[in-house]
Amino acid sequence: MAWAAGILRASKRVGAARVDFRDQGIALWPSRVLGVPRNRAWWNATPASTMSTVKDKLIKRISSEEPVLHNKVSIIGTGSVGMACAISVIAKGLANELALVDSNEAKMKGETMDLQHGSVFMKMPKIVCSKDFHVTANSEVVIVTAGARQAKDETRLNLVQRNVTIFKVMIANIVKHSPHCKVIIVSNPVDILTYVTWKLSGFPKNRIIGSGCTLDTARFRFMLGERLGIHSESCHGWVLGEHGDSSVAVWSGVNIAGMPLKELNSELGTSKDPEQWGNVHKDVIASAYNIIKMKGYTSWAIGLSVADIAESILRNLRKTLPVSTNVKGLYGIKEEVFLSVPCIVGENGISDIIKMKDFRSKMQSIFPAIPKNSESAATWEEALSSK
Ligand code: NAD
Repeated sequence: MAWAAGILRASKRVGAARVDFRDQGIALWPSRVLGVPRNRAWWNATPASTMSTVKDKLIKRISSEEPVLHNKVSIIGTGSVGMACAISVIAKGLANELALVDSNEAKMKGETMDLQHGSVFMKMPKIVCSKDFHVTANSEVVIVTAGARQAKDETRLNLVQRNVTIFKVMIANIVKHSPHCKVIIVSNPVDILTYVTWKLSGFPKNRIIGSGCTLDTARFRFMLGERLGIHSESCHGWVLGEHGDSSVAVWSGVNIAGMPLKELNSELGTSKDPEQWGNVHKDVIASAYNIIKMKGYTSWAIGLSVADIAESILRNLRKTLPVSTNVKGLYGIKEEVFLSVPCIVGENGISDIIKMKDFRSKMQSIFPAIPKNSESAATWEEALSSK
């Protein structure tokens, strides 16, 4: 820590850019770290007042630089998922600054340095990290992947309680340092923790986004593609509701080039289907368990899914994505509950949702509180349009 602080002080003195380094945490620029013995105050060895440095001789400052806020992304949690999000954000060139936060300082620093050493190959000028949330200041998007893992014999409910305790501190810090950010929640159970974040942050619901069924849907489209021999991008279909085991595949919407598969096989996705297309969704659900059995965790596909959400926000793409949002007032739901529905995601987070006609009965299977006796179109429209 001391050596990093030293580097920061030195950066302030010899740095070309006039940036407020007090706000940057551990800014580990490889050029200033590599080859320098850590036990030596190298910046004091050649006092700037009596001897000009190579840098002084090479570079002539012609104007002062003030810090300008660009697309800043922060990732809380530098575990497998956090780092998959980081590399996906970097690969897409989405941010000018990436800030990483983790309570495990050694892991966080190691991951940060490892990423920085790839700087030659990426268009991201700055990667910073700290245990302290001040490094996340003025983020446009904050991605939360931190949290406790389920311990052996621990109930889901217990895990939620432990994560709520962690989230109380995390979310307060995110809000304090980036009061205008959009927050993407990835930690599980994602729908519940997205609700918890919304409650704790006091942010409007459009700025709290759960990664929800983006991963489930990506898996679904991949598996449809495998069956048909068509690229997943051309296989359209949605998995909605609660992320994971109780998610719902919307078979009526599955289509290729606008051709609904349900028109070719009316039993598509049902138990009566001779082709058993329903197994595709079963495989989606099983895949998380299978991957965890084989490699211990899942990371790449969720990282890419999260970067897709972040891209839609940062570039204001207004993509329609299966993210988790507050669905109170939709489909007759009266409670504050977060579930995935197709949402339009842009610079303000979730601005609109797409009304799915036959999703109501599906939602009833996962959320029994939806009244079952009001199926008329008028009630539908009313339920959908009420905010
Ligand atoms: P991990 O254990 O590898 O990483 C979690 C990180 O969080 C660790 O580095 C840990 O030190 C850090 N952490 C814990 N408490 C913290 C705190 N209070 N402040 C800062 N950092 C803290 O776990 P992982 O495999 O990266 O998974 C992360 C989360 O993502 C899990 O909850 C997992 O279930 C979830 N996940 C969600 C999806 C999805 O589709 N939503 C998919 C995969 C994983």
